[in-house]
Amino acid sequence: MKQSHLFTKTRKDAPKDEVSKNAQLLIRAGFIHKEMAGVYSFLPLGLRTLNKIIEVIRQEMNAIGSQEITLTALQDKKNWEKTGRWDDAVLDVWFKTKLKNETEVGLGSTHEEELTALMKDYIASYRDVPRYVYQFQTKFRNETRAKSGIMRCREFVMKDLYSFSADTAQHDAFYEKVKQAYIKIFERVGLGAVTYVTFASGGSFSKYSHEFQTITDAGEDLIYIDEKKKIAVNKEVLNDEVLKDLGVRREDLIEKKAVEVGNIFNLSTRFSDALELSYVDQKGVKQPVIMGSYGIGPGRVMGTIAETFADDKGLVWPESIAPFKVHLIGIFDKEGKVAAYAEQLYSDLTAKGIEVLYDDRDLRPGEKFADADLIGLPLRVVVSEKLMATDSVEVKARTNETADIKTRTEFLNYV
Ligand code: ATP
Ligand code: MG
Repeated sequence: MKQSHLFTKTRKDAPKDEVSKNAQLLIRAGFIHKEMAGVYSFLPLGLRTLNKIIEVIRQEMNAIGSQEITLTALQDKKNWEKTGRWDDAVLDVWFKTKLKNETEVGLGSTHEEELTALMKDYIASYRDVPRYVYQFQTKFRNETRAKSGIMRCREFVMKDLYSFSADTAQHDAFYEKVKQAYIKIFERVGLGAVTYVTFASGGSFSKYSHEFQTITDAGEDLIYIDEKKKIAVNKEVLNDEVLKDLGVRREDLIEKKAVEVGNIFNLSTRFSDALELSYVDQKGVKQPVIMGSYGIGPGRVMGTIAETFADDKGLVWPESIAPFKVHLIGIFDKEGKVAAYAEQLYSDLTAKGIEVLYDDRDLRPGEKFADADLIGLPLRVVVSEKLMATDSVEVKARTNETADIKTRTEFLNYV
C-alpha cells in the first residue's frame, strides 16, 4: 500500500479523555478511531492487524475440527428467559431494545442461548455429537468501566467457540485440545512468553475454569504465578486447598497484574438442560448434551500486544500480526530518481508476496521516520540518492537501535 493513498494520518495527540496507553498509541498511529468511551472503529492499518489475529485464531480453531458460523446480534428474549438470564439483575451488561410492535429483543453479549437453541434443529442422535461450532461476532456489553481502550469495549468482536459432546470424557478431551490450541494462538501472536494458563473458578459445573492471562500493568486482574511450572492461579481461587491440588507452593508464587485474553469453561448441562438440547444414544435412551464455551477477544489481544511491546517512540508489532512487514521510506531527490528506484523496489517486494507500506509522500525524512516508529512495522527500509549510488538500502528492525546497509539484492534475498 502506498502511504499517500492511506486516508488516515498520524496525530501528535490522542483525545484528551483517552487514558489507556494502547488506545492513545493506536489512535495516534491511525489504527483505530474513538467513537465514545469503550467504542472504537477499526481503520485500515488497525483492521489489517485485527484480521491477522483473527486469522491465527481461525486456523487453530479449524485445526481442532471446529466449524465457523455467524450468529445474530439481535436475540430472542424467549431463549434467555428459559435459562434465567434475561433479567438485568442476573446479567448486568445487557443492551436491550424493542421492535416496532413492542417485542423486546436483546443485543447479544454472549451466544450460549442462541446457539444451544439453534443446535436443537441439528442434534438429535448419538451420530450428531460431538459438534464444535465457533464464530467471530460483535458482542454488546454495557461495561461499567471502559478505561482500558480496546481491551474493554462496550462493542467488540469475540471469537466464541461452543462444544456439544456426548459425555464428560468426550468433553474433557476436547477441552484439553482447546487449551493446547489457545497456547499456540498466544505464541503465534507474540504473547507466548507473558501469557499464563491460569486456574480460575469453575462456577458450579467444574472445579476450575482456565483463563489465559497476559502479564501487563494495563491489566485489571491479579494473578499468582509459578514461573517454573508456567501456571498461575487467579486471586478468586487462591487458597491452600487449591495450591495443594495444583502442587504449587505459596512462597513460589509472584503476584502480577494481568489481563484475561481468553478463557475456557465447562458449561456441563447448564444450557442444554434449560433449552432442552439432548440426543438419543445407541440404546435409545435420551441423554443430555455436555457443553463447553471458549472465548478470545481479538481486539483485547491487539490492545494487549500494543501495551506489551510499545516503547517511547510508538507501537512495535510482532511480524505475525503487523499490518505490513516492511515500511519502505523514500528520501526523494528533485528529479524523481529515488522515487523511480523506490517504486521498483516496492513492486519487487510485492511480487515476492511481502507486505509493504511504501511512504511515497512528499515529506521531510524526520517526519517519515517518526511516523514509521509510531506505526511500528517490523522492518524499516530506506532508499535515498546516496544509497542508490551503490544500489543499496538501509535496513533497520523496529526493535533495533542500529541499521544495516545491504545491497538491494542482499536485501531481497534476506527479507
Ligand atoms: P472480563 O472478566 O475481563 O470482563 P469476561 O470473563 O467477561 O472478561 P468472557 O465473557 O469470557 O470474558 O469473554 C471471552 C473473551 O472476550 C475474554 O477472554 C476477552 O478476551 C474478551 N472480552 C471480554 N470482555 C471484553 C470487552 N469488554 N472488550 C473486549 N474484549 C472482551
Ligand atoms: Mg466481563
